[in-house]
Amino acid sequence: MTSTNSGKRERIVVIGGDAAGMSAAHQALRVAKARGREIEVVALERTGYTSYSACGIPYWIAGDVEEGEDLVARDPARHRAMGVDLRTGATATRVDLDQKRVTYRDADGEHELGYDQLVVATGARAIVPAWARGADGEVYAGVGPVKDLDDGEAWIDRFAARSGQHVVIAGGSYIGVEMAEAAVRRGHRVTVLTRSRVMSTLEPELSKRVADTMEAAGVEVVEDAEVQSLDVTGDGVIEKVTTVRGTTYSCDLLVLALGITPATDFLSGCGLLVGKSGGLQPDARGHLRDGVWAAGDCCETRHRLTGEWVYLPLGTHANKQGRAAGENAAGGSLAFGGVVGTAITRFAADQHYLEIARTGLSLAEAEAAGLDAEGLLTEGTTTSGYLPEAEPIAVHVVAERVTRRLLGAQIVGGHGAGKRIDAVAAALWGGMTVDDLAWMDLAYAPPFATAWEVVQVAARRLAERLTPLVEVRPSRLVAGAPRTSGPAERGSKP
Ligand SMILES: Cc1cc2nc3c(=O)[nH]c(=O)nc-3n(C[C@H](O)[C@H](O)[C@H](O)COP(=O)(O)OP(=O)(O)OC[C@H]3O[C@@H](n4cnc5c(N)ncnc54)[C@H](O)[C@@H]3O)c2cc1C
Repeated sequence: MTSTNSGKRERIVVIGGDAAGMSAAHQALRVAKARGREIEVVALERTGYTSYSACGIPYWIAGDVEEGEDLVARDPARHRAMGVDLRTGATATRVDLDQKRVTYRDADGEHELGYDQLVVATGARAIVPAWARGADGEVYAGVGPVKDLDDGEAWIDRFAARSGQHVVIAGGSYIGVEMAEAAVRRGHRVTVLTRSRVMSTLEPELSKRVADTMEAAGVEVVEDAEVQSLDVTGDGVIEKVTTVRGTTYSCDLLVLALGITPATDFLSGCGLLVGKSGGLQPDARGHLRDGVWAAGDCCETRHRLTGEWVYLPLGTHANKQGRAAGENAAGGSLAFGGVVGTAITRFAADQHYLEIARTGLSLAEAEAAGLDAEGLLTEGTTTSGYLPEAEPIAVHVVAERVTRRLLGAQIVGGHGAGKRIDAVAAALWGGMTVDDLAWMDLAYAPPFATAWEVVQVAARRLAERLTPLVEVRPSRLVAGAPRTSGPAERGSKP
């Protein structure tokens, strides 16, 4: 069946019905309405779900969220009621950029759909290695990723089947840590096998604190352990995993937390630019080429500090990028300003609780980017130390030596520690120095912080180690306002 779009309202076709896609669809409708234009927005979604919080899936599995439906922000009926021609169970299989047509498949067969503007928001697929599949190509029953609501449901069923199972988690990054929490809270024995370190983008000292907390909660954490193969019985029940080093671990269930890859295969041959990750590379407006836009996990994005393309697939970016792409596809003007690499999670089981956050570059990343950087770890408490709720917090700050430019920070600590990263992210976004961070006006009262907030202590201590500035930088001066304190004000010479 073919549907062209000659002589009709302008048609925007969105492929993908989750965070990026539906943000784009609704923003396009809003922009068109505000401008008094009539447009048609058709959204194609492969599954039956729309606009759900994948981020909430580990907490649903852990038991903090009752139903998968609670994670759905807007279901298909709501999107349709709001004016989107949403077609679920519809998988886009091909795009003809010259003819401006999308081919998609649904239960009724294959269809062609013409578009004036196309928004690609197909997200990503979980990485499922060949060793996780049987001879029939199917993933073994006790094995699975954690990517969508069906995966969440499957893990709830597997965990509920029997308590005390041995759950092995392949991968020690965000989803690995979150699934370790879920499995241990569901009463299982948990082993995390991770190729390098747990939360390997953290500084080694902080990564170790995460591993220590997990181990204190009963999780076995094995580093330098990459899964290579599975031992499976004749009827497909997994029994053991073996790592590249040849060590074997007994295993009832295996969580695949090995990362994701952009779902852009159906565009191969279109000539669209993709990066090393396979992600599309749209400009800040989400634009790829004439009439084609992209947003979300199917894209790479620009890192504001290095200017490099990076693949940092996060829901917070997908929502913003989708809004920008939808706005621009409908004739508006909105830019997504790139990323600084901010992310947060936690590990919580029994009395063991740790918030984990990072923004910007780690020391190793800064050095790999060719920057002359220095980093420093500082310890403190989340509230004034005399209050009973005070918990340890460790902050690692990185700055460029000569320019004193703030490059990044990482935080690991108790309740209230993690979201402090936002102050650092804001400072990074604004291109501030480590002195600015040390001396900026942040909130203080004993239940929330120490008088010298620990993030600022960390920044100040690092600032004191760096080459003092010889000149005050005029760009930092605001008419009528006192100058930023610290070495710039002191004007000390090396
Ligand atoms: C377990 C988990 C925890 C997470 N935690 C966090 C977190 O704490 N914070 C955070 O910021 N991010 C988190 N994320 C990441 C976040 O969920 C994603 O970045 C976000 O969902 C990306 O949205 P998207 O719309 O770009 O892609 P997706 O959510 O992948 O949506 C893409 C949609 O396109 C559909 N689709 C794909 N191909 C086609 C096709 N050919 N035709 C039609 N439809 C198609 C898919 O079915 C899917 O519904 C987490 C992700 C997971 C899995």
